[in-house]
Amino acid sequence: MFSKASLLAFLIIFWNSLMINLLFAQHCLTDELFYQRAAQDPTLWHQLERFNYFVKNFSHAQADKTQRTKYIIPVVVHIIHNNGPENISDEQVWSQIQVLNEDFLAIAGTPGGQGGAYAQIEFFLARKDPDGNPTRGITRTQSPYTEHCPSGANEGSTEAQLKGLIRWPPERYLNIWVVKSICNNTLGYAWYTCSQKEIDGIVVAASNFGRIGNNLNPRYNKGRTTTHEVGHWLDLHHTFNGCYGGSLGEPDCELYGDFVCDTPPSAIANYACLRPGGRNTCVEIPIDYPDMTENYMDYTPDECMFRFTPGQVRRMHAALHRTCEQAGQVDRKYIYTEENLERTGYALWLNTSPAEYQTPQFLVYPNPSSYYESATVQYEVTSAGKHELSIWDVTGRLLWSQVFDLAPGTFTYQLPSFSQSFYFLKITTSQKSTYTLKILRN
Ligand SMILES: [Zn+2]
Repeated sequence: MFSKASLLAFLIIFWNSLMINLLFAQHCLTDELFYQRAAQDPTLWHQLERFNYFVKNFSHAQADKTQRTKYIIPVVVHIIHNNGPENISDEQVWSQIQVLNEDFLAIAGTPGGQGGAYAQIEFFLARKDPDGNPTRGITRTQSPYTEHCPSGANEGSTEAQLKGLIRWPPERYLNIWVVKSICNNTLGYAWYTCSQKEIDGIVVAASNFGRIGNNLNPRYNKGRTTTHEVGHWLDLHHTFNGCYGGSLGEPDCELYGDFVCDTPPSAIANYACLRPGGRNTCVEIPIDYPDMTENYMDYTPDECMFRFTPGQVRRMHAALHRTCEQAGQVDRKYIYTEENLERTGYALWLNTSPAEYQTPQFLVYPNPSSYYESATVQYEVTSAGKHELSIWDVTGRLLWSQVFDLAPGTFTYQLPSFSQSFYFLKITTSQKSTYTLKILRN
């Protein structure tokens, strides 16, 4: 039995920790995971420090003899799903690549073109897989590991389990794994340059990947989680890496905070849409700048982020030329070479029309279904009209059919139940396209 005093103390502690969790929700696990790894291998801190000096002295002219207009990076998106809405459409993936290009190329007239720096970095979905076969740059793997917990808590798959399912060579592709969930409501995480090849890449929860789809989190539905994580993948740190300076004088901004001089230091992350300049959590001398809450490396809601700075671009370019110090670490020096663009199908991508990523994706879940549940079919209707659904058995006998007059949007329908067997679900759209899916009831 609690005494009144101890109960009160307990409640205060509980409330404080609840408030701290609410106030400091970990949107991104990048730093936490890096600190865990650095605790096992303290040389990572020294490597970071040496990289900071490398950035300080970085010169494009010396690092890169090519007259390069852009760094072009092949991407593969691995959708890890368990037949739920996390099995997102190709179109949703394509929308994410569009967002990356708008943000990193600061394309005028787009949400990424509101005054942020032009980062000269372009992304494309690989059109050749590691064996040289044609691909859409998207893989799909069904697995319960789609519920993921990289911090080691027992609430989902480990990194080794998730990334062991499928991984393309990270020195040739930016691997992005899309999952149903990451524990503690985390939106995503990435590894900085020179991480081990077994883990290099980015993990993002499906509910904040891309900007098209019906299951997006309303605060994170503009694709900026992935913009933020790609920033980490190119060695950017959070802008809220603490205050420095003040009574200490003015230390070297390339070696403190987020290691970038034109992003004012911030003490804590920002979670609200503020007008730029609407908050100031650190005091700098001689000029005290407000926090840059619109920076992609803060935690601001998607619609209010729009900026990388020239200093951040310089650091990302240095990351693309960084030489790793240990065996097994992945650098980024090969990924954008002419040779790699040829091997990963950049020329084919340039001839790829957006329509190729708009073929409807049909979901049937659960599949297989058990005796006690019936399966649900779901897909995006892109143009209005009649859609016929029919179920056939393996001998070709029609068991059920129904015609729906559908408007554009997501169509979801619970299918009738049949006894245990294989069936075929046929969907015929008004454009006379027919899609057949195998469904199993056991
Ligand atoms: Zn982050």
